[in-house]
Amino acid sequence: MDNTIENKVNADPAELEKFNQLAHNWWDPNSEFKPLHEINPLRLNYIDELSGLSGKEVLDVGCGGGILSESMAERGANVTGIDLGDKPLKIAKLHLLESGNKVDYRQVAVEDLAKEQPHHYDIVTCMEMLEHVPDPESIVRSCAKLTKPGGWAFFSTLNRNPKSYLMAVVGAEYVLNLLPRGTHDYIKFIKPSELARMARGSGLDMEAMTGMTYNPLTKVYSLVKDSSVNYIMVYRA
Ligand code: SAH
Repeated sequence: MDNTIENKVNADPAELEKFNQLAHNWWDPNSEFKPLHEINPLRLNYIDELSGLSGKEVLDVGCGGGILSESMAERGANVTGIDLGDKPLKIAKLHLLESGNKVDYRQVAVEDLAKEQPHHYDIVTCMEMLEHVPDPESIVRSCAKLTKPGGWAFFSTLNRNPKSYLMAVVGAEYVLNLLPRGTHDYIKFIKPSELARMARGSGLDMEAMTGMTYNPLTKVYSLVKDSSVNYIMVYRA
């Protein structure tokens, strides 16, 4: 077996397996994927308002079952979705038959696609994925390389601090049972300052940022200034 660093895939098999196991529920809005369904209109509008999706070449990295990918295609973007999970991609492809949307789904590592299609995309999105990979910096660098000069890169993840631990792990997984226990690994959460450093090192310029919160009483998600738990950072290449 070849164990050289160059040949290692930047993926955690246990993380991919977690999503494989749940993939059949992906499009059930009352399943483990409920939070993704509920935040989707918010993030979709945010991306569209800033970067204008219609007619654009868009790459969705870690697309899973395709909730965001399909919604961007519905806004008129030409979307490619990539993931290393087998079952999520199968579900994503099956769902196209039902919805009639067009998305090009591929099982390829973002690092490999960056070699194949450098500076190809107007917009690259990488949502709720960085906190599941061994080397998030390599993902950010590859997303930067895939973006056309002047194009847009959107990253969302979970902040790392006592409040995010309480809300995203204890609250979501243990108290409200919104997510299966073990969905999120606190030590892999990423502070905005850390993501900013990775992006800067990849030659990206910061354009905007927003927080996302969940109100457990009203059960409503909203975009807010407070980025202490969930947040989206926006960059230009
Ligand atoms: N981005 C989607 C799905 C988020 S769930 C959304 O926000 O709706 C996280 C996804 O990341 C899963 O589909 C999982 O298979 C994928 N993933 C985890 N590690 C990955 C890796 N190293 N490369 C590509 N995808 C990965």
